[in-house]
Amino acid sequence: MIKIPQTLIEELLKRKFFDKGTADELVQKAKEADRDFTQTVVESGLISDSDLVSLKSELYRLPSVAITDDKIKSDALKTIPESTAEFYKFVPFDREENILRIGVLNPEDNDALEALKFIAQDQGLSIEKYIIDFEDYSRVLKKYRTLVGEVKEALDELSQELGKEDIKKAPISQLPQISEQAPIIKAVAVTIKHAVETRASDIHIEPQEKEIRVRFRTDGEMHVSLILPKTIHSAIVTRIKILSDLKIDETRVPQDGRFGTVVGDKKIDFRVSTLPTRYGEKIVLRILDPTVGLVDLPVLGLAGRNLGLIEKYIEKPFGSILITGPTGSGKTTTLYAILRKINSEDVNIITLEDPIEILLPGINQSQIQEEIGYTFASGLRSILRQDPDIIMVGEIRDADTANLATHASLTGHLVFSTLHTNDSIGVIPRLIDLGVEKYLIAPTLNLAMAQRLLRRLCPSCKIKTKPDMAETKIIKEAIDTMPEEVGRKLPKSFDVYKASDAGCDECKGKAYKGRVAIFEVFEINDGVEKVILSGISESALSEEAKKQGMLSMFQDGILKVLEGMVSLEELLEVAEVGNA
Ligand SMILES: [Zn+2]
Repeated sequence: MIKIPQTLIEELLKRKFFDKGTADELVQKAKEADRDFTQTVVESGLISDSDLVSLKSELYRLPSVAITDDKIKSDALKTIPESTAEFYKFVPFDREENILRIGVLNPEDNDALEALKFIAQDQGLSIEKYIIDFEDYSRVLKKYRTLVGEVKEALDELSQELGKEDIKKAPISQLPQISEQAPIIKAVAVTIKHAVETRASDIHIEPQEKEIRVRFRTDGEMHVSLILPKTIHSAIVTRIKILSDLKIDETRVPQDGRFGTVVGDKKIDFRVSTLPTRYGEKIVLRILDPTVGLVDLPVLGLAGRNLGLIEKYIEKPFGSILITGPTGSGKTTTLYAILRKINSEDVNIITLEDPIEILLPGINQSQIQEEIGYTFASGLRSILRQDPDIIMVGEIRDADTANLATHASLTGHLVFSTLHTNDSIGVIPRLIDLGVEKYLIAPTLNLAMAQRLLRRLCPSCKIKTKPDMAETKIIKEAIDTMPEEVGRKLPKSFDVYKASDAGCDECKGKAYKGRVAIFEVFEINDGVEKVILSGISESALSEEAKKQGMLSMFQDGILKVLEGMVSLEELLEVAEVGNA
């Protein structure tokens, strides 16, 4: 039961932050939600968190403190269990010898004070109390819940249930049956929760000779998140197979499945794939978080001419827009953002995908199943009979699909798809390779785009520097070859930004936060059509690209370097991969 701070309320009334009626309402609200009163007041917008902290500090004659992540000491956390901290709304954050520093939300809560007194006596500690705001209180609570800590807790429980000293020594044969036991279910759930909270895109569960390694991929980079005892491998695998309707006893061939679950307040889908390896089945969970992929075009990194061209051509009733780039370059995210933008009640949008990564309300999404003959090509034939206005085909990788897509765009449909080529201009020779008639390309293809993903520098801790000579040369060269109207607007002297060594709270020590794409948007205009009809030379196409004012991906990247969005090192690394 929540304790209401009467003295504080009187003070707030006296200072006219609200009247008696509002105070009663807030008290009622706090009680109903079983939430700290001050949190309720701050959420109502009547007083800011920081003003409230200074007012409380004055009123209760206690110092206030801001608790950043690096101030939270784990030996302080160990002195008070998480459940106690959550119940009494105070958190230990620092410990020096026998001094324990505690952040409190409500110093009028006598039960909480009694509990603190008891802890102090019991452990021979002297306690210093500080006023903290609600955000910092939550920050400390979160620290209790590390992935390693929570999984260990589950496994300790399992050891107890099995009556074993140590889970690592349990006989393997006994363990597949425990996959439905609470601790295994919890270990899997906790791992999934942490992966989603840290915005990972994939979870890899990898059996090795003596242990299981769990790695998360976040912003494109893999890192080890957890090491588990090998003995529970089959239980973990079985648990995931049960969730995703896979054959439990089939361990010799790869399987694919999916399942959905609620994490926090979001429904999230997972695509599961298993692979037999030397030390057992490896599992990869692709996290299909519906909110992660759904961003607007400018957030993806589209601006200026690039954004303008897309906005122009998605208004057209027919023709196609093709996006190219290697796997993991963000093509699907761009397509989803476009579809979301043009989705409305009065158009029929049908997609063919492999896999469906994000569910889009109001759009008819269909999952390809190659093994039963439902391919991009056969699917495309079927959906054309479904009276579509707009069609999205996951990928064009064979002649059949290429020709069907071409004819669909010729006959009054707006078609979106992806291809594998190095750059935007490469789309044209690739279509010819796939057997599309030369004379059909310009009338059907509106835009050929290429993209790559770069890690976005954390805005809170990125470091501003002057570029060195070599860097200046690279940037200057890129600017000099840009279309005049873009290059002209750029400053003559510039700063660049680097990733910080240690990161900060904001980016959880990674120095990067999310990703941004660099783009190249090639418009298939009359000039390009002439080149296509007269025999397609790559140099003539490049010439046309220049004439229409196209920025190369690298030049678009340089603009993002100058804006401080990405580092030059990152751009050079990705651009090099692109050129290889
Ligand atoms: Zn940072």
